[in-house]
Amino acid sequence: MKNIFVIGAGGVSSVTVQKMSMLKNDFNEIILASRTIERCRVIKELIKKKFNFDIKIEQLNADHTNDVVKLLKKYKPDIVLNLALPYQDLTIMEACLREKVHYLDTANYEPKNEAKFEYKWQWDLHNNFSKKGLMALLGCGFDPGVTNVYTSYAKKHLLDEIQSLDILDCNGGDHGQPFATNFNPEINIREITANSRHFENGDWKTGEPLKKKISFNFPEIGFRNMYLMYHEELESLVKNFPEIKRARFWMTFGDEYLNYLNVLKNVGMTSIKPIDYNGTKVVPLKILKKILPDPSSLGKLTKGKTCIGIIVTGIKNNLEKTYYIYNICDHRKCYNEVGSQAISYTTGVPAMIGCLLMSKKIWFRQGVWNVEQFNPDPFIQQLNIHGLPNQTVELKNKLKF
Ligand code: NDP
Repeated sequence: MKNIFVIGAGGVSSVTVQKMSMLKNDFNEIILASRTIERCRVIKELIKKKFNFDIKIEQLNADHTNDVVKLLKKYKPDIVLNLALPYQDLTIMEACLREKVHYLDTANYEPKNEAKFEYKWQWDLHNNFSKKGLMALLGCGFDPGVTNVYTSYAKKHLLDEIQSLDILDCNGGDHGQPFATNFNPEINIREITANSRHFENGDWKTGEPLKKKISFNFPEIGFRNMYLMYHEELESLVKNFPEIKRARFWMTFGDEYLNYLNVLKNVGMTSIKPIDYNGTKVVPLKILKKILPDPSSLGKLTKGKTCIGIIVTGIKNNLEKTYYIYNICDHRKCYNEVGSQAISYTTGVPAMIGCLLMSKKIWFRQGVWNVEQFNPDPFIQQLNIHGLPNQTVELKNKLKF
């Protein structure tokens, strides 16, 4: 399965397509389709210059299943890599079902007019994919993605039973801009302005957005404030590891970033409710996205490191054990390699690896699956080869917060 159809030509896609182009023996045809053809053209020219490899490009609005189907009929790819936005997940999956193509994405479906994400809509397609002999792999970026792989690795190699899981996402980088988001501003702001939600003793507990704060000493970065949030992988991880009693997700934010965010929220600029402007309906968050820096332009400006990983506590041979599994990624090194900052890199590389494992049928099952439902070892091996090695350390104490 070497013919890959990539949808979306943003920061993540640019990294994935470059990484695939480094593996010409594994991927012999790449078609890149996105809403703005000019962005596809920029990636195409970069790939030709760096790797002397020709990729094909097409203009596509993936909101329309029929348009996706038309291009799938034309190119007959083996796998669709959905690196557009979560809004397009269902239309693209529907097209894959119609044209019998395997599917992979990095973020779960969100309706455009409601800031809500959950796997239900995509999991509901399990039988349809299964009946057609197709596989869909959901959430194959870093978080979700690698954090799910780390969890299944911990269960396979370190613990007999996982009791608590904390996912810690720290971006210790600085781009020198007053306010900018690491990835698509619209998706990012919808996510971080939502209520927090974590799992405890069989129940989901919700709280006000960005209210619970802990200062944590991140390896190679130092102390940063991290905030309790909701993130999509919690939903699949507590389902697939039902023994987990508590699962939480934390992300770091600087004070200045939060000040800007609060002001923007208070004046209504983060709202997704359309307003009337001189007779035209406009969504304030979409306007904000237009005027904020494009995350792909931050690569050359960003210095510092990211540290994303999990802390798991559980039982091994009747003893309580705690492990921290994480990756450190350096923004400058990513820029030097692929011209992107570490957030696009840490998402784009796992997407390429998921596609590679599917294409070689090392990870292959009919139906709709999350990353933690497969053997973590080949994925970890590929992360080491392709620039995202992990560190695993045993902590003396479990988390006290
Ligand atoms: P960008 O906004 O940089 O890129 C998105 C791309 O998708 C753009 O090229 C955009 O086109 C295109 N697109 C948007 N709508 C459509 C459409 N209707 N039809 C076709 N193409 C469309 O986002 P990122 O690259 O930062 O993120 C890509 C995905 O990765 C997102 O879903 C994001 O949520 C996810 N992500 C996952 C992470 C993880 O760890 N799992 C972390 C970070 C991101 P145009 O150029 O016209 O705007």
